[in-house]
Amino acid sequence: MLKLELRSGRRLFAPAPAALLVGLLAGASAALATPWSNISSPSKGLTEVIGGPANGCIGGAETLSKTGPGYVSVRRYRNRYYGHPDLLSFIQDLGWAQQRSSGGLVMIGDLSQPRGGRMSSSHRSHQNGLDVDIWMTLVSSPAEASRLMDHRSDPQTMVAPGGRSVSGHWGTAQRTLIETAARHPRVDRIFVNPAIKRDLCQTAQGDRLWLRKIRPWQGHAAHFHVRLTCPPDSPQCSPQSPVPAGDGCGSELAWWFSDEARSPKKGSSKPTHASRPATPAACSAVLQAQARKPSSYAGDLLNHADGLLSGASGFIRRFPGNLIPDGFASRFDF
Ligand SMILES: [Zn+2]
Repeated sequence: MLKLELRSGRRLFAPAPAALLVGLLAGASAALATPWSNISSPSKGLTEVIGGPANGCIGGAETLSKTGPGYVSVRRYRNRYYGHPDLLSFIQDLGWAQQRSSGGLVMIGDLSQPRGGRMSSSHRSHQNGLDVDIWMTLVSSPAEASRLMDHRSDPQTMVAPGGRSVSGHWGTAQRTLIETAARHPRVDRIFVNPAIKRDLCQTAQGDRLWLRKIRPWQGHAAHFHVRLTCPPDSPQCSPQSPVPAGDGCGSELAWWFSDEARSPKKGSSKPTHASRPATPAACSAVLQAQARKPSSYAGDLLNHADGLLSGASGFIRRFPGNLIPDGFASRFDF
């Protein structure tokens, strides 16, 4: 997802006339076939989650602040910092906990687009305002976060080469952060790399109920992905299948280190257009609704062109279980 972002930290292109940028933006979006990326602001009206994480949207989404106690929102030029109020509350709660524990800042990555929906790159899910990616590298200031993240490759991986164990960058701060997130009552599940799940299984003390929410998944070695449960105010929200009982530290986790998991048959779960779930009808109204307020996102929208042009990529692998409604995922996220 980041291949076209410059490692030098420079912008993908120099400032240009607005008309040209709008044209680029429209062209990129059309090529990637999602109208949702062209929407610059949330819809008017009550907040409501519609559909599921990989085929949904959100009306009346709220905007995550750039910074708050214990957290900083990064890569805002992607314009993916909107979500249900429960998601924003969760992030604030996690920030407070982080501030109390080590004092470093948690870097908050993508939530949803202003009205959710399918993205032009990087994610299959994150569509209904209940998903957020959280980086495992902690920073000391918003300025450091910007230097580390803006138009750059992802930060250091927490998984050692070979994928069987955690790297030297991983430690107590990361364990505490993920456990704190998993213990939050609104959190339904958290996706992490299998090597991270294994470390958590081996080091958890006392009550292990929270481990049930920690779901092993490919990638997710530098960030973890948090998904909330459907909020009570959203009857059209589609819940996912419940996570299996138990701490998930047994045979299910072992599968991820098996030859079958590590050498999937080629083409075994290639995505096809037909495999995409239909977007709920109620999302059409969200897409076409008036903006909640006059657009004041011009700067972010122009910067967002980088994200639109970066495109989706990655390899597809088989997996066991029922985590993803449409049955496939990219290397980076889903
Ligand atoms: Zn994610």
